[in-house]
Amino acid sequence: MRAVRLQRVGEPLSVDEVPRPTPRHGEVLVDIKASGVCHSDLNYRDGVGTVGRLPITLGHEIAGVVDQIGDGVEDFEVGDRVVVHYILSCGRCRYCAVGKENLCEHYAMIGKDVDGGFAEYIAVPARNLVRLPENLPYEQGAILGCAVSTPLHALRRADLKPGETVVIYGVGGLGVHAVQLASRVFGAGLVVAVDVAEYKLELAKRLGADVVVNPLHEEPAERVREETEGRMADVVLDLVGHRETIMKGIECVGKGGRMTLVGISPEDITLSPYKTIIGREMTIIGVNDHLKSELYQLIDLIASGRLDLSTSITHKLPLEEANRALEMLEKKLDNPIRIILVQ
Ligand SMILES: [Zn+2]
Ligand SMILES: [Zn+2]
Repeated sequence: MRAVRLQRVGEPLSVDEVPRPTPRHGEVLVDIKASGVCHSDLNYRDGVGTVGRLPITLGHEIAGVVDQIGDGVEDFEVGDRVVVHYILSCGRCRYCAVGKENLCEHYAMIGKDVDGGFAEYIAVPARNLVRLPENLPYEQGAILGCAVSTPLHALRRADLKPGETVVIYGVGGLGVHAVQLASRVFGAGLVVAVDVAEYKLELAKRLGADVVVNPLHEEPAERVREETEGRMADVVLDLVGHRETIMKGIECVGKGGRMTLVGISPEDITLSPYKTIIGREMTIIGVNDHLKSELYQLIDLIASGRLDLSTSITHKLPLEEANRALEMLEKKLDNPIRIILVQ
């Protein structure tokens, strides 16, 4: 089968011919129909995030159809449409026991530590699968696996409450869903979207942002101060992961507010404990991945019409053009939000 693999950090991916995996005990073979291209894939390629081994097939937003069943699998049948939850967890440690498999003591990630979805097939544990309803296209199913679920996890971690003000830094593949979830599902009172790309701000407005701010033209904290009569934000979500956006985001947090870090930054930040954190009782929250249970919640939200993924996917490319997809995402060519590799 074809697989698009990272051979060496810092180099383009290569389209390789590799053996089709065989499902072991408890596993199924998924015939992959759609794989989302995430900003994290750029990080893995560039060495900002470290992959578990080389060569490795990237891709952690995966939807497809069950093609073959390993021994001991009872819950799925050949032909089932599925989404893959990308966290491999042990199911036995103290974190798994309380439903926090993203903190598992034996955590591994599909598409980072083991081969992922930029391929024709993948063998995964059956317990990593979630059924995809018939009316949900594979492309939308794929992005449930990261771009939609991670912002849901972030807003739950941030404990965003109805009526509160939320500032969302970065309206890309994750941000478009953070805006929708904040406004339509969590019932935020004021949703402020911040991005340097005008096309993303236009989309954010259509998806429910009350205020959009381009920091190239306007100071976000000043605008938030105006909009909130000085109270500032209850929740700030940083989906970008640059030192500058994090520091600018922190300026937007009000008294008792929660600064929520999602974007991955290799850079250190420096904060004054008293002036920045203690005085206003600010909470800083880290967000790592999401939970399988959140995939079920999202499928229900889509079924009830409260979440609409129809504008999330801007491009579909064949699997072989994974490098082109990464380049488009990196350089924002042709205004991408989420790019899907179809196979
Ligand atoms: Zn991702
Ligand atoms: Zn575990």
